[in-house]
Amino acid sequence: MYDYDLLVVGSANADLVIGVERRPAAGETVLGSDLAVHPGGKGANQAVAAARLGARTALLARVGDDAHGRLLLDSQREAGVDTEGVLVGGAPTGVALITVDPSGDNSIVVSPGANGRLTPEDVRAAGSLFQASRVVSAQLEIPLETVVEVVRGLAPGSRFVLNPSPPRPLPTEVLAACDPLIVNEHEARVIAGTALGDSPEDWATALLALGPRSVVVTLGAEGALVASAEGIARVPSVKVEAVDTTGAGDAFTAALAWRLGRGESPEEAAGYAARVGAAAVTRPGAQESFPTAEEAEAL
Ligand code: ATP
Repeated sequence: MYDYDLLVVGSANADLVIGVERRPAAGETVLGSDLAVHPGGKGANQAVAAARLGARTALLARVGDDAHGRLLLDSQREAGVDTEGVLVGGAPTGVALITVDPSGDNSIVVSPGANGRLTPEDVRAAGSLFQASRVVSAQLEIPLETVVEVVRGLAPGSRFVLNPSPPRPLPTEVLAACDPLIVNEHEARVIAGTALGDSPEDWATALLALGPRSVVVTLGAEGALVASAEGIARVPSVKVEAVDTTGAGDAFTAALAWRLGRGESPEEAAGYAARVGAAAVTRPGAQESFPTAEEAEAL
């Protein structure tokens, strides 16, 4: 019996957002709107998304001993995430400085801060969390050697899910543990590192050849594709009025990881995740946009 349906190992950032008429050029100063501070980071987002759906979720991450770190801990706890594994200190909390203009185009500077200090040793010290978790998910906003240690620390019988964002080439040891590797087109191209064909089916086939047990390709409003040695299947999305796609991939990944752990088939789990992703695009923001189970079912 596992205590957690999902353990997310990943980043936690404060997103500092200022609206501007025009993004500044080099050497220029522009005035902007009031500052908005939102909890973010792919790890924190995925943990909140899963917990809001009802998954028993824990987060292994590192934040600074500062106001942004407290904001992140509060938002996790409010969503029902177990934060025992969130380490505090060592560097300031990771921050994304975001300026966004009226057309929605943005410029972003990320300071990884404490995320860059989540070490393999931190992962080893969290062994009891790994033993207690049915599914472990990670992204790449923490050091790659830490993700390698996550794969080594998996309990026998547990499942590993990786959303390689931001993408970079991955060691075979990590690729071989993924079930699934969840990518969008850009991530597929970077991970494969070679010219990919035109269709998502071609991308999935090329990625499967690198060793993951399964691959899921997210296709925005087109839904997703699931692929394994058993075959490739398209999973349609739900038609919704898109307001803000921020966080859709995180909501999708969290829902998919949870449902796979419950024993659903990849098609079933991805169908559910597509509804969760679609619900997330109907509302602005990331964590604020993630649906409850009832809201996802209603779509
Ligand atoms: P992110 O930019 O958040 O990292 P991503 O590129 O990894 O996202 P997307 O493909 O944009 O992921 O979205 C994930 C899933 O959310 C899609 O597979 C789809 O099921 C759902 N989704 C995204 N955008 C829409 C949309 N406009 N309408 C319906 N569903 C959507």
